[in-house]
Amino acid sequence: MELTVKEIIAWLEISNTNIQENKAYLTELDQAIGDGDHGINMARGFQEVLNKVTDQEYEAISDVLKDTAMTLISKVGGASGPLLGTAFLKMSTAVKGQESLDTADFAAALNEAINGIKQRGKATEEEKTLLDVWSPMADYFSAVDQFSAEVITETAKDAMEKTKDMMATKGRAAYFKEKSIGHLDPGAVTSFYIFSGLAEAVKG
Ligand code: ADP
Ligand code: MG
Ligand code: MG
Repeated sequence: MELTVKEIIAWLEISNTNIQENKAYLTELDQAIGDGDHGINMARGFQEVLNKVTDQEYEAISDVLKDTAMTLISKVGGASGPLLGTAFLKMSTAVKGQESLDTADFAAALNEAINGIKQRGKATEEEKTLLDVWSPMADYFSAVDQFSAEVITETAKDAMEKTKDMMATKGRAAYFKEKSIGHLDPGAVTSFYIFSGLAEAVKG
């Protein structure tokens, strides 16, 4: 199978459901190594995305991703909104003109997203941020030629769990220095909900 507008919309819907269901947990994670607003930021942002993308008919994947990006950038106050918004914006540009995406197309889009996140946030891998989920996911999709729901979820979960042992050197969590070790990165957990949302969406 390949990702079409239908799967991309389903992806956003399931991601939103995951985030709404775990809003309190995401906030709790951000209370430990941040300012305690991550669940609120993401729940608001993704609800606005859903309102936007379910309000109209789309022909192009790039248009869905662009509306997602613009909504996250404009509706979320925290660092995570503009960063994830940039990721969706770069994906939108990367898939322009494509009616469906295979794993290689999707990996290419993710790689653009990662470049955008890095440029905007000045972080790289192993700094205990959402990049530590996005980057392994791009590597994973580059290496396979099928969307396997189980492996997508497993890969995202492993990546998310690895942030626990990392020390934060970017974002608010960096103020906690060594004390950030032993806590999951909130943005990495949101990213897990996003990629496990994709896994559900590809099941159809
Ligand atoms: P804020 O830190 O402004 O309150 P959120 O709490 O919504 O924003 O989001 C925090 C998350 O954003 C972190 O857990 C981390 O994953 C991500 N993040 C923060 N700074 C950066 C950065 N420079 N690069 C990549 N991701 C970052
Ligand atoms: Mg925060
Ligand atoms: Mg904040």
